[in-house]
Amino acid sequence: MSMPDAMPLPGVGEELKQAKEIEDAEKYSFMATVTKAPKKIQFADDMQEFTKFPTKTGRRSLSRSISQSSTDSYSSAASYTDSSDDEVSPREKQQTNSKGSSNFCVKNIKQAEFGRREIEIAEQDMSALISLRKRAQGEKPLAGAKIVGCTHITAQTAVLIETLCALGAQCRWSACNIYSTQNEVAAALAEAGVAVFAWKGESEDDFWWCIDRCVNMDGWQANMILDDGGDLTHWVYKKYPNVFKKIRGIVEESVTGVHRLYQLSKAGKLCVPAMNVNDSVTKQKFDNLYCCRESILDGLKRTTDVMFGGKQVVVCGYGEVGKGCCAALKALGAIVYITEIDPICALQACMDGFRVVKLNEVIRQVDVVITCTGNKNVVTREHLDRMKNSCIVCNMGHSNTEIDVTSLRTPELTWERVRSQVDHVIWPDGKRVVLLAEGRLLNLSCSTVPTFVLSITATTQALALIELYNAPEGRYKQDVYLLPKKMDEYVASLHLPSFDAHLTELTDDQAKYLGLNKNGPFKPNYYRY
Ligand code: NAD
Repeated sequence: MSMPDAMPLPGVGEELKQAKEIEDAEKYSFMATVTKAPKKIQFADDMQEFTKFPTKTGRRSLSRSISQSSTDSYSSAASYTDSSDDEVSPREKQQTNSKGSSNFCVKNIKQAEFGRREIEIAEQDMSALISLRKRAQGEKPLAGAKIVGCTHITAQTAVLIETLCALGAQCRWSACNIYSTQNEVAAALAEAGVAVFAWKGESEDDFWWCIDRCVNMDGWQANMILDDGGDLTHWVYKKYPNVFKKIRGIVEESVTGVHRLYQLSKAGKLCVPAMNVNDSVTKQKFDNLYCCRESILDGLKRTTDVMFGGKQVVVCGYGEVGKGCCAALKALGAIVYITEIDPICALQACMDGFRVVKLNEVIRQVDVVITCTGNKNVVTREHLDRMKNSCIVCNMGHSNTEIDVTSLRTPELTWERVRSQVDHVIWPDGKRVVLLAEGRLLNLSCSTVPTFVLSITATTQALALIELYNAPEGRYKQDVYLLPKKMDEYVASLHLPSFDAHLTELTDDQAKYLGLNKNGPFKPNYYRY
C-alpha cells in the first residue's frame, strides 16, 4: 500500500532534538536545595535519593484546539452541602472568619467545619503531599512565594493549597470553573486564612471578579501562578501585564491551558518561564487514564442507573481518557466502539479488542455516546437527530465543546430536566435523548473523582512550583518546560508506599550495562510508557 501523497513526514527532527536535550542533571534547583544546600530544605524522614534532577526538555507540540473559557467548560462535583437555600450572592455578603478576617468571598463561612472534615478525609489518601509537608520540617522551600491560583476548589485541591502554605507560600485562590467549587471546602480554606474567592454556581461575571480579587490586591503582588485552564494567566496578561515583572513562573495543569501557553510562546509573547504539568508522565498517564477509568461509570450510574452489560457504547477518542473509559466499560460487559482520527490510537484500540468505526456507522444503534477528544463538534446535531430513543450522551473532555449542545436549543425540541445534571431532550415524534451535565465534563459534574490520583497530580504541581520558584535566574527562559524526568520519578516513588510496593534496585553492573545512574532517571525523555 502506498503512502498518500499529501501525508507530511513525521517530525523526526523534533524527536531527535528532544532526545538530545536529555543531559546531565544537577541543574535543578529543588534537587540542588535538597542535596547541596540542606539548610534550605531538609527532608528528614526520607532516605530516598533524588540527588540529580535531569534536564529541561523541549516543547511538545500540541495540536488540540483551544476550548472555550473554562467558565463553561464543566460543571462539577458533588458539593456535599446544598446551597440552594441561600440565593444571596456571596459578593453581597459581609462575612468574617473566626479570626476576624474578611479577606475572602465564599458561599457561607459557617460551613467551614464540615469542609474541614472533607479536607481531612482527602488527606488520608494524599499521603505524598502530607509527607512533603513533614519533610520540609520547618524548612520552607516556598518561603516568600506569593502564589495566585485558579483551580477547581475541592477537598483535594485544598490539601494542595494547604501544603503550599505549609511550605511557606502565601496563597490567593479562585475557581477555574463556575460549578466545581465545594462550598464547604472553600469555607474551610477561608477559615484557615487562605484568601479564597469562589463558590459553586458563579456567574461569568463572578468568575472574572473572583480572579480579579485574587490578582488585584493592594500591598500584595503574586510572584507565582498556578493555573488550570489558562484563564487566570489570560486575565493577568490582559489586565495586569506589569504583574509579570515579578512572576517567577507559571505552572499549568490542563491540556487547554498548556495549549495556550505554547501559543503565547510561539508568538514570542510568553514573558516568564512556564511548567507544563499536563504532559508530565505522572499527570497524563495517571490522572487522565486512571481517574477516568475509575469515575466514568460512577458518573453514568449516579445520573441514569443504566446497566452496562451488553449495552452498545461508542467512545470518541482513544487517547488517555478514552482508554480509561473503555477499560471500565469493557470490564462491565459493554460492547464498545471507538472513533479516532489518529491511526496510531485507532490501531491501539483494535489491538485492545475494540471495533474502530465512524460515528455515522453506529449512531443509530448505540445506547451511550461518550466524547473524550478535547476537540469540538464531534457529536453534531445530525448525529443527535439519528440517535435512537433513550440514547445517553455525555462528555469526558475538558470543555463543553465536544457535543454541539447549542444546536439542541431549537423550538421544535423540548428540554425536560429530570434530575440534577440530567436533561431529556425530546424530539417532536417523542424520541428522547438523555443529555448529561449539558455536555460538560461528566465525572467532575456528576460524580466525585478518586483522591489518590489527584494526589499524584497535586504533588507534581507542588514540585513544579518549588522548582520554578527556587530556580536560579537564567535556568528557565521565557518558554514552556516539562518537569524534569527525575521529578516525575520522585512523585511516583512518593506514592509507592501506599501499595507496599518494593522497587528493585539496579546493581552497579546492571546500571553500567544499561548506561543508567542507579538513582535514575530510568528512562529517556522520549520514552512513552
Ligand atoms: P489525548 O490527546 O490523549 O486523546 C484525545 C484523542 O482524541 C486523541 O487520540 C485524538 O486523536 C482523538 N480525537 C481528536 N479529535 C477527534 C475526533 N474528531 N474524533 C475522534 N477522535 C478524535 O487527550 P486525553 O488526555 O485523552 O484528554 C482528552 C480530553 O479529556 C481533554 O480535553 C482533557 O483535558 C480531558 N481530561 C479529562 C479528564 C477527566 O477527569 N474527565 C482528565 C484528564 C483530561
